[in-house]
Amino acid sequence: MLAQQQIDPSTPTMGQNQQMSIHLENNLKVKVSDVAVYYGDKQALFGIDLDIYKNQVTALIGPSGCGKSTFLRCINRMNDTIESCRVTGSIEIDGVNISDRSVDVVELRSRIGIVFQKANPFPKSIYDNVSYGPRIHGLAKDRQHLDHIVESSLERAGLWKEVSDRLDEPGTGLSGGQQQRLCIARTIAVGPDVILMDEPCSALDPIATAKIEELMDELRQNFTIIIVTHSMQQAARVSQKTAFFHLGKLVECGETEQIFTNPQDSRTQDYITGRIG
Ligand code: ADP
Repeated sequence: MLAQQQIDPSTPTMGQNQQMSIHLENNLKVKVSDVAVYYGDKQALFGIDLDIYKNQVTALIGPSGCGKSTFLRCINRMNDTIESCRVTGSIEIDGVNISDRSVDVVELRSRIGIVFQKANPFPKSIYDNVSYGPRIHGLAKDRQHLDHIVESSLERAGLWKEVSDRLDEPGTGLSGGQQQRLCIARTIAVGPDVILMDEPCSALDPIATAKIEELMDELRQNFTIIIVTHSMQQAARVSQKTAFFHLGKLVECGETEQIFTNPQDSRTQDYITGRIG
């Protein structure tokens, strides 16, 4: 038995560190390298390097104005829509630079969905809110297929049971928390693989917040989630990785538990203990 387990010294074996690094490489979804962002002459982000992994929630935390939302908007090139804004450096998603000429920005934004602070359903029915994206992207082959996309998106957003009997009613008639889940369903409907969330719970009560947080844990099985949150408790509850930003710089990023219990940088320590913010 023992003899069988003995390792032939001439056979190269993979060390744990090597295995770990291959595993991480395979799960790398977004690679951010040396990203800087300017609004006119004012620099908002400085030399950001960050790796974001599949099937994880990565939380971006830091004091107001430190560049969290600016950073999030780089990932689906939403900063392109701000005239004064200039982005340098590189962001690769699945190994493809999103600024590459071959990248169609409309297609990119359907793959990298975004959910905003304030729920913003279209002034349309619940059904039309969810079916809008698949319709304009031509994702459904017929009405039955579209019905299926609407149902499964609402199901995954944890809203189907609450709205299945009133799909023709306006989305704006739902409660705040339901509207936010409707916006998540709308994002899911076009089949993204990354979901960006910009303080998605800041306008919600604690019960609606808890529902969204629970949902995030389910969604990460199928998606890569990046969330900006001003709540450290929320970051600690929902994320596996946390990145701390301060004055436009990424101070540190690591396992959420490590960031909150054993931060490496004194600025992170000061923030999580309430000394800066
Ligand atoms: P956070 O999300 O951490 O609160 P932001 O990304 O919103 O930070 O802002 C970072 C910096 O960039 C701030 O100084 C802010 O004033 C500036 N900024 C953000 N959006 C714009 C914009 N559209 N035009 C000019 N400056 C902006």
